[in-house]
Amino acid sequence: MILQNAQGDARIIAGGQSLMPMLNFRLATPTLLVDLNRIAALSGIGMTDEGLRIGAMTRTRDIETSALIAQHQPLIAHAVPHIAHLPIRSRGTIGGSLSHADPAAEFPALMLAVDAQMVLHGPQGARVVPAGEYFQGLFETATKSAEILTHIDLPHWPEARRFGFQEYSRRRGDFALAGIAFWADMDGDICGECRVVAFGVSDRPVRLHGVEQILQSHPLNDADAMLQARDAVDDLLEPDSDLQASAEYRRMLAAELLQRAVHAAGGMA
Ligand SMILES: Cc1cc2nc3c(=O)[nH]c(=O)nc-3n(C[C@H](O)[C@H](O)[C@H](O)COP(=O)(O)OP(=O)(O)OC[C@H]3O[C@@H](n4cnc5c(N)ncnc54)[C@H](O)[C@@H]3O)c2cc1C
Repeated sequence: MILQNAQGDARIIAGGQSLMPMLNFRLATPTLLVDLNRIAALSGIGMTDEGLRIGAMTRTRDIETSALIAQHQPLIAHAVPHIAHLPIRSRGTIGGSLSHADPAAEFPALMLAVDAQMVLHGPQGARVVPAGEYFQGLFETATKSAEILTHIDLPHWPEARRFGFQEYSRRRGDFALAGIAFWADMDGDICGECRVVAFGVSDRPVRLHGVEQILQSHPLNDADAMLQARDAVDDLLEPDSDLQASAEYRRMLAAELLQRAVHAAGGMA
């Protein structure tokens, strides 16, 4: 209601770790801040019939240290320590990170990798948006004005699923120049269904279907398949050059990180 009445001039504040710098630099100039910090119902991690539900106001550090996440979402548990530094993880929230939608952030890529569903609430009620439709561009999501992200639903993670997560940043805790989240459901020694998500290389996290098709039906240590997969990463990605890295370097990095992630999943790292 407050957001609706403010007619787009209000901004939600969660952990403030992205919003406060934006306010400082006058990149955002809302006339009203709506603080979600005291709404206990928006925090916490719990089991559902379908998997896990994470409240949007759950702190990154609570996800990092959660026994439920460690047991039921090992890819996320493995990746979260890469996010920023401890003080930022102690304050920043998963909902803030997903709503901010930085293309180099880990949570958006992880949500795409695990097929998360975003639960949004607004004046018209609740709606659910799959991660694949939620990230719509640079700092852009499917969230409409006056809506808030309240929860994230994660489907069951099969116990035998293998995974790898790799990213490269100049200093520990910096945003990644490129990163790869990977999982594979094995059929014996052969890669069955798998998922490859790249981040830091586009205006949003990207699923690399063409790379997945190459890896499927081969062992994870198949050298020829890996060469083809690396070439496909190079073909499929069109990152921009910026002050941090050239487009060519980012493509090369993504291909190398893919190989490391797949090898980690195969126990070869
Ligand atoms: C030095 C530094 C390094 C960092 N490094 C990394 C990194 O390596 N990887 C990484 O992923 N992140 C990094 N971050 C960002 C950090 O993870 C932030 O905490 C996170 O992106 C935003 O979470 P927040 O809860 O602080 O959101 P806020 O800053 O409070 O909000 C961010 C945006 O989301 C909106 N918003 C917040 N919650 C909701 C909601 N529930 N519904 C709708 N809109 C909402 C706000 O209006 C705002 O526009 C870094 C930040 C800093 C300052």
